[in-house]
Amino acid sequence: MTLAATVDTFFHSNVTTFKRVAIAGAQISADGRDYLLEDGCIFENDFNLVGTRDEFVDHAARIDHLNQGVGTHRTVMTDPEWRTFYDVGQRNFFHVTTAHPGGTQVPMASAPCSGCGLCLPLEQLEIDHLHPQDGSAVPPILKVFRSLGLTVGGPKGPLGTAVRANHLAGGNNATGGAGNPKLAKGRLAVLMRGPRYVGPHAPFAKQSRLDRHTTSEAGNALLSVFWRVNAMPALENACRNSLVNLRPLCGVCNRHKSNTPRVFG
Ligand SMILES: [Zn+2]
Repeated sequence: MTLAATVDTFFHSNVTTFKRVAIAGAQISADGRDYLLEDGCIFENDFNLVGTRDEFVDHAARIDHLNQGVGTHRTVMTDPEWRTFYDVGQRNFFHVTTAHPGGTQVPMASAPCSGCGLCLPLEQLEIDHLHPQDGSAVPPILKVFRSLGLTVGGPKGPLGTAVRANHLAGGNNATGGAGNPKLAKGRLAVLMRGPRYVGPHAPFAKQSRLDRHTTSEAGNALLSVFWRVNAMPALENACRNSLVNLRPLCGVCNRHKSNTPRVFG
């Protein structure tokens, strides 16, 4: 099941385990605040709208769209958004043979290495995870959420900024975001009944970095939906393999980069 379908089911379901939170009037609580779920919307207890069903489904659909899948990361090379950002294009290379010692020009789809800038044919480039596969799931989730406008501070890097612009251009207006920094700063929290998942505190003194690593109210609500339906592993997987987490590197840069998992980045 896609994440979009998962979220849609959560809001539409009025049976079995979802009933208590999905029916109108039911509440979810966190951080001493109550959130009301009603008619496909999540409200704070003071009735500020956190987000609608359609918005949450759109966000989840976008996460699905950006997900490149496990073991098929090279397919990201065919994505128009990724190709534009990493400057993929036809460039001339020289093929040298004994018959043509001076070289024959061969146009090939190519891109510069994101580390050293050396331009190589796509088949010579490797796909690197900006956040390692075996590191914490929090940074890749935050990176994707930033690009969807679901963190207090927006993305800083050009890729996240470009992806966010495309997301917003699709008619998807994230509630929350910069104008709604209500959650305690510097942590990723998930709303739920009973035990509450709280991510690690971001170790940043600088406010702008802290904001970029803090989910907005709408981001928290979306996380809580995934948490409620046990879809956190699927979300983690989608974010680790997201377009925003994949960059082209030449073999040399890929071998020499640090594999130390970054907690935040
Ligand atoms: Zn390189």
